[in-house]
Amino acid sequence: IQRPATNLDPPFHVGCQTPILNTTERANAAMVMLARNTDVDGAIDSIRSVQNQFNQHFGYPWVFLNDKDWSPEFVSRVGKVVKETGGGEAVFEKIPTYMWGYPPWIDQDRARKEMESMQNRRIAYAGKESYHHMCRFNSGFFFDHPALLKYKWYWRVEPDIEITCALTYDPFVEMERNDKRYGYTVALWELGKTVPTLFHKLSDWKNKRKMPSTSLWTAMMAPAWLPWPFRKILRLLRNRDGNGDMWNMCHFWSNFEIADMTFFRSQEYREFFQFLDEDGGFYYERWGDAPVHSLAAGLLLRPDQVHHFSDLGYVHKPFQYCTFAPHEDAFKRGELVPDFDANDVREATEKEIGCNCFCDPNIDQVAPEC
Ligand code: GDP
Ligand code: MN
Repeated sequence: IQRPATNLDPPFHVGCQTPILNTTERANAAMVMLARNTDVDGAIDSIRSVQNQFNQHFGYPWVFLNDKDWSPEFVSRVGKVVKETGGGEAVFEKIPTYMWGYPPWIDQDRARKEMESMQNRRIAYAGKESYHHMCRFNSGFFFDHPALLKYKWYWRVEPDIEITCALTYDPFVEMERNDKRYGYTVALWELGKTVPTLFHKLSDWKNKRKMPSTSLWTAMMAPAWLPWPFRKILRLLRNRDGNGDMWNMCHFWSNFEIADMTFFRSQEYREFFQFLDEDGGFYYERWGDAPVHSLAAGLLLRPDQVHHFSDLGYVHKPFQYCTFAPHEDAFKRGELVPDFDANDVREATEKEIGCNCFCDPNIDQVAPEC
C-alpha cells in the first residue's frame, strides 16, 4: 500500500485577514467543553485563549458539559470570563446518566479487574473508571446531548489548552463551504497497549459490512515502505487484518476537534459505535475517543472531507503543534520533530502560515501527521 505523499490540504486562509472575516454569516455552531468542577482554573485559561484568538470576534455560544452538578463557583467564574472576553451565551449542562456509566451488558467485576491489570502495566488513566466513562461519552454520546441537538457544528475545547495563533476567519463557515466534516490540528501515534483489539474489531465489521476502503483508511494503514522493525512491532500488536491491512496507530488528537455532528449522528456512525460498545473495549481495554473518531473518519469519510488546521497553533501538554516552516519539512517526511530549536522557529517566522503565531520553545513539538 502506497501512502499518499501528503494527506494535508491547504489552510482556508494564509496569514492574518484584515479586516477579520467576521462580517458574513454564522454557522450553526457551538464551542463545547467537557469539564469537572475541579478543572475550573484550566477551563478559564482555555476559554481566555480561545475567546482572545477567535471567538471574541464571532460570539459563538459555549456549552459546558459535566457528569456531575456544576459547582456555583464554576458557573459564576466561567460565566463571568465568557462575558468579559467577548461573550457568546454560556450554558452549564449536566450529562444524562444513560450517557455516562456502565451499560448493562458490561461485566463490572471483569472491567475492574482489567482496569487494575492495565494500571499495573502503567497504561495511562486505565485504572480510572471515570476516564473510561469519559472516553465512551466522547465516542458515542456527546452529539446527542440535549443541549447540543440544535447545533450542527462544534469546536471541542478542553481545559488547559492554548490556541497560539489568531484565527481571523470562521472555521465553521469555511468547513461548511468546503464540504469538510472533521477538522484537527495534531495527529499522534496511539499507544498500542490501550487498544489491543480495536483495529481487529473494526476490520471485522468493515469486512462483514463489505465496506470498501477509502483512501483515508488506506493512509491510516502502515505503509509497505515502513522499515521492518516497525512493521514487526505493529504485527506484534496484532493490528493486521485478513486483507493484510495494518493500522499504523496514527490518530487525530481529539482534544481539539472542529467537526460536523451530523457525521456522528449518522446511521453508519451509530452502528459503528454500537458495535464497538457492545464489545466492551471501552472498559476491558482503554479505547479512547481519539482512535474511535479517527478510525470512523477513515472508514466513513472521504479524505477530502477531513481538514487539517495547519494554520492553527495549539498546545495541549505535553505536546504542541507549531505552524512554522521547519515543521512543514518534517511533516512532509512524516516524522516527529526530534530536536526542537527555538532559533529555527525565529528564522522561520516569516514563513508562518497562521496569524501572529507563537511557538513555545519549552514544549515538545509534534508533526501534524504521524
Ligand atoms: P487527557 O487529555 O487524555 O490527558 O485527559 P483529560 O484529563 O484532559 O480529560 C479529557 C477531557 O475529559 C477533559 O475535558 C476533562 O475535563 C474531561 N474529563 C475527564 N474525566 C472527567 C470526569 O470524570 N468528569 C467530567 N465531567 N469530565 C471529565
Ligand atoms: Mn486533556
